[in-house]
Amino acid sequence: MAAAGVIAAGVVFYWQQVSEILAADVKLNVAAAGKEAASDFDRLLETDEQVLASLALTVQDSYPWADSAQLTDFLRRQTNHNYFKLLGVITADKKLYLSSHRNFTSAFVADISARTLEQGKYLSVRQADPLDGADVLVQSVALYKDGRPLGTLFALQLPDRYQPLLTLSAMGDKGSSLIIERSGNLVLSPRKVGFKNIFSQLDKTLPGSKELAKLRQTVSNGKTALISAPLDGRTRFLYFIPLERNGWYMVSSLPTQFVEERAQHLAVLSLILFASVFAIFFSLIFYILHMRAYSNRQLFATAFVDNLTGADNFNRMCEMFPQKLAELHGCAALVIFDINKFKVINDLHGYERGNQVLQRIAQVLREHISPDECFCRLSADNFILLLKYTDRRSLLTRLHTLNTQLRRDCTVEDSCLMIDIAFGVYEIKEEIPFYIMLDRAHLALEKAKKMSFDKCEFYDEADRKRIVAEKQIENTMEDALRRGDFAVYLQPKCDFATGEMRGAEALVRWQGAGGKIVRPDDFIPIFEKNGFILRLDMFILEEVSRLLAAWKIKGLKQVPIAVNFSRLHLNDSRYIPQMLRLVNKYGVPHELIEVELTESVIFNNLEHAQNIIRQLHGNGFSVAMDDFGSGYSSLNVLKDLQFDSIKLDKEFLRGFEHNPHAQKVIKGAVAMIKTLGIKIVAEGVETREQADFLQGIGCNLAQGYLFAKPLTITDFEHRLNSGSHPGIV
Ligand code: C2E
Ligand code: CA
Ligand code: CA
Repeated sequence: MAAAGVIAAGVVFYWQQVSEILAADVKLNVAAAGKEAASDFDRLLETDEQVLASLALTVQDSYPWADSAQLTDFLRRQTNHNYFKLLGVITADKKLYLSSHRNFTSAFVADISARTLEQGKYLSVRQADPLDGADVLVQSVALYKDGRPLGTLFALQLPDRYQPLLTLSAMGDKGSSLIIERSGNLVLSPRKVGFKNIFSQLDKTLPGSKELAKLRQTVSNGKTALISAPLDGRTRFLYFIPLERNGWYMVSSLPTQFVEERAQHLAVLSLILFASVFAIFFSLIFYILHMRAYSNRQLFATAFVDNLTGADNFNRMCEMFPQKLAELHGCAALVIFDINKFKVINDLHGYERGNQVLQRIAQVLREHISPDECFCRLSADNFILLLKYTDRRSLLTRLHTLNTQLRRDCTVEDSCLMIDIAFGVYEIKEEIPFYIMLDRAHLALEKAKKMSFDKCEFYDEADRKRIVAEKQIENTMEDALRRGDFAVYLQPKCDFATGEMRGAEALVRWQGAGGKIVRPDDFIPIFEKNGFILRLDMFILEEVSRLLAAWKIKGLKQVPIAVNFSRLHLNDSRYIPQMLRLVNKYGVPHELIEVELTESVIFNNLEHAQNIIRQLHGNGFSVAMDDFGSGYSSLNVLKDLQFDSIKLDKEFLRGFEHNPHAQKVIKGAVAMIKTLGIKIVAEGVETREQADFLQGIGCNLAQGYLFAKPLTITDFEHRLNSGSHPGIV
């Protein structure tokens, strides 16, 4: 409404401005056109006057006009030559010679003659003959001979000669001119007008007007003037300009309506133009806004929507997370899940089918979650959910239901392939960044994936600490090896009866920061995972080789030393060559090196294990089976593999003292192994009772705290060479 008012006011203002500018412009044009018309009119009169003057010379010369026919003939010819309507001579005695016949009143003739002779020339507009009615323009000059007046030569012009000059052609024929006397009396007009004196006429419409008085004054002073005033039924611009003769004025007039029409026309055109520009402008703005909204939507879609499932993507989740968490008042759990072996679905059923499964998962999740919760697809088959959380049990029940629904709805059709989902849950308890929560949920997921059924795990702080510690170990292991932080401890293998040292096992120790000794159980499993164990074992072998070589050089006693080798070496083709290179480097006799391999190596590939053991034997190394009885030991392997000795695991022996059944099993196993000619080493012997029993059933050697703990090299050398027998002391 207000906008419409403003627009209307604007239009009115614009209209006024246009009208004013146009009026000013038109006034200038009227004045210019008036000037031009006046000068044309003056020129016409002057030309006629000059022609008339030159004709007068000829007429004077032919005086006395004895042959009247000759004079009239001359006049006729000159009339045709020039633009006069009629030429005539009035003699002093009022005799009339005319170029063509015409009636004149005697008063007309007398008056022309008298006025001409009086002034030398004469110009007027008047009625020549009341019978023909029309006014004529009369121009005349006096004729003289030897200073004596002879008469008058006069010419008549009809209105059609001067009337074209009274039309303002520059104003598109909308305007016209009048010739007046200074008094305002009408002299000539292009057509009949309803007044005789212009000032009296204007007086009627503008009685007592100051403007009119000023106009009269200006005109009487012979100056130009421009006014707008009602005249002859219309308001007009009137331009008064003096002519050169008779004190006449030309009044050029143009109806103001002409200006209004033009203003109207211009205003309408401008309005149409304005409206068009306005329309184009707004269309453009609308288009730009529309395109912006469209591209924003597109941008949002690419930035925040997962193309495949139409679900939110990870970016969107990150953005929404704080607000959603606040809406759940912190009682929330972050759940991450993935489909076990999703790649198999793709491989077996094609990507198209795999995609359908993901789309259905998204659909199920959409139906499952409430408005204050959210979810997104993280990558491939990974989805993240932020769920309301009250307690573990209800969340587990909910995830179980969700799992059932997903399995039901997303199972690949026409195949019996059921999708298998694992969930990792982080119960949000502290204010930590989103990505850390996600890491924790991931950690739980990794654990859940290892489960065989009900694959759902909650994040456990201990797991994180363990992983951090593992990471710490991994980060420092290279430097530790370079710095020599790994040390060899030797644990003696002793004769039961005498306690005499018959050998030793090399056990690694990590001398950590501040002299803290780290036991192998804390880092060996990590090194087994990352492969570092391959280098560590070789390092230990080299240390042992160097030690044996040093003993020899020093003339000390040498005993065989067992080195533990991880099962990873068995798949490494460099294993035996590397061993040989190291041992030979120090010139150590091969029979002094014993290789300890755990039972598990054999399960993987019996034939390969046989091959390796054969090569070790071929190179003179003896081979021991470590940790016998700790896992799923099978006596069966013993028949296929040529071990030189077997180490009974301490777990195998645990608590046998009070268990006659266990004693029988151990006894049977030992007897059986002995029949194969394999030596038996009992590990973890801690009590005399154990030692007696094991010795009694025929074990060959003992390795355990009863006899000796793992010793530093210095302590070991000391004991070895002092001859003291550890367990016996
Ligand atoms: P293992 O080969 O079975 O080594 C024997 C383990 O039993 C040693 O633990 C030893 O200290 C411990 N032990 C010996 N006597 C007794 C006893 O009377 N009572 C008890 N409770 N324990 C006893 P350690 O040194 O902590 O080594 C643990 C495991 O780490 C070893 O078990 C071995 O499998 C592995 N390991 C140690 N050093 C190396 C190495 O250089 N290379 C590889 N691959 N593994 C190693
Ligand atoms: Ca061992
Ligand atoms: Ca062992």
